[in-house]
Amino acid sequence: MAASMYPDYPPALTPEQQEHLVTSLKDWSIAHGLAVRPSPAFATDHTGVLATTAPVTLFPSPFPRRCFEEALAIQTAYNELYSAIARDEPWLKGIVEELVEVDDFIAKLWDIHLAVKKEGYAQDLSLGLFRSDYMIHFDPAAPDSKPEIKQVEFNTIASSFGGLSARVSALHKYLYGGPAHCLPSGINQNSFPPNSSLSSLAAGLAAAATAYGSPKSGSSRLAVLFLVQDVERNVFDQRLLEYELESKHGVCVYRLPFPRILTDTTLDPQTRALLYHPPQASSITVEITAVYFRAGYAPSEYTHPDAWLARHHLERSAAIKCPSVLTHLAGSKKIQQVLATPNSLHISSFLRDHAAAQRVQNTFTNIYPLDDSEAGLKAQELALDPESAKRYVLKPQREGGGNNTYRTAIPPFLRDKVPREKWKGYILMELINPPPLSNSILRNGKIETGGIICELGVFGVCLWRNPTGEDRRGEVLKNSEAGYLLRTKGRESEEGGVAAGFGSMDSVVLV
Ligand code: ADP
Ligand code: MG
Ligand code: MG
Repeated sequence: MAASMYPDYPPALTPEQQEHLVTSLKDWSIAHGLAVRPSPAFATDHTGVLATTAPVTLFPSPFPRRCFEEALAIQTAYNELYSAIARDEPWLKGIVEELVEVDDFIAKLWDIHLAVKKEGYAQDLSLGLFRSDYMIHFDPAAPDSKPEIKQVEFNTIASSFGGLSARVSALHKYLYGGPAHCLPSGINQNSFPPNSSLSSLAAGLAAAATAYGSPKSGSSRLAVLFLVQDVERNVFDQRLLEYELESKHGVCVYRLPFPRILTDTTLDPQTRALLYHPPQASSITVEITAVYFRAGYAPSEYTHPDAWLARHHLERSAAIKCPSVLTHLAGSKKIQQVLATPNSLHISSFLRDHAAAQRVQNTFTNIYPLDDSEAGLKAQELALDPESAKRYVLKPQREGGGNNTYRTAIPPFLRDKVPREKWKGYILMELINPPPLSNSILRNGKIETGGIICELGVFGVCLWRNPTGEDRRGEVLKNSEAGYLLRTKGRESEEGGVAAGFGSMDSVVLV
């Protein structure tokens, strides 16, 4: 196992100390909704009443203060960048049209955009609840090298954990922020930065609901629709946002499973207002101001023949979409690769502030296309050579985890599983090697201890007006950084310790 960068962290505990800590953590988690529905492998629950603590680290993980502050500071530039991309349909078209030939899911999304564009969009406003994910890059071989943040990916749809993440920060602060904590000296109240993810994301949804204007149907309260998956273990993350919206903003939330879109909603024939008919109250019709997608990002959700009709139905509605189809497409891995092309002028054309553009650019690592361009042909050589492939991850245009191919698995995967003409639907990305750390994870009542890898996600809220008629640029109405998420997983299993790949929630202790 690689030695931890902070060998004395986390501190060793006596069995009594550990038991006290774990009991405090379990009780606090359940009392504050830091919970998930149990996996069927962990507990059988025919009644739907069971909840268990969300997987969390026992200790917050050390994170360089400078890196953390930089990641938060550039979020508004990232919001502006992705909102500008979503507003620039001709630019997106140039990239998406290449993917359409090889990726059926992207092709279907693009078709929906074209169909609604032809008819005319009924809503000018779009909302992004984004999350930009980073790992720390650190070169131990270079003595002068400073740790820096490198972007893993940028999420524009269903960026989850904003609800639970604020709770994890509060949990770790509760456990260690007080005078009796057992963390090494030098760690104090200032080491635990505030995390506004829950309140900021709710404020973003509330801003969209308000910007929609008074519902024409005369509903007295603004209503937002959470589009959710049929079976959702991470339901409390979403519920916390719902409760915040209701209690702080007076906004009503309705939950609609993706397969019920066409059964439970209709469009007003004149205005295309999205009308929700709650199955539990047949006499009521609710005009929806905004649709928040926590579903609809995976091809597996579109197996029913009506699923694409349903997505089209929402897109042509007058509700504000979070995200619109164009915003969803802007989050493709291919877009990230194009932005990261060395010496390209994309970033500076989207971001007028030169310094901000430079700081965004500094977070890019090498990402290559796998097409027939010069860079693409070089990347194909790297990807097919078992020795060089060890430094890369291969990604398709998918979301939600579990879709990538790593290191030595890349050459046989490309050769045997992907027809040559479909390679251009993938990108090849250099692996970021974060510094070795240790921690313990409490999952399903068991503690696993060992080497870990941390991934920082920074949330962003952006509400904008899309270009219409003469106005070719549109306008940003709200742009803010919206708190953070730290996820921690075990280093590879060959290095021992925590099982690889199983993520848990974490928070930062700034060092
Ligand atoms: P998804 O949209 O499915 O979440 P990601 O690009 O975030 O796809 O990849 C999933 C996971 O793979 C990440 O959470 C991270 O753990 C790992 N990963 C992705 N890209 C890199 C990279 N360049 N270096 C190291 N790990 C990576
Ligand atoms: Mg990811
Ligand atoms: Mg993603």
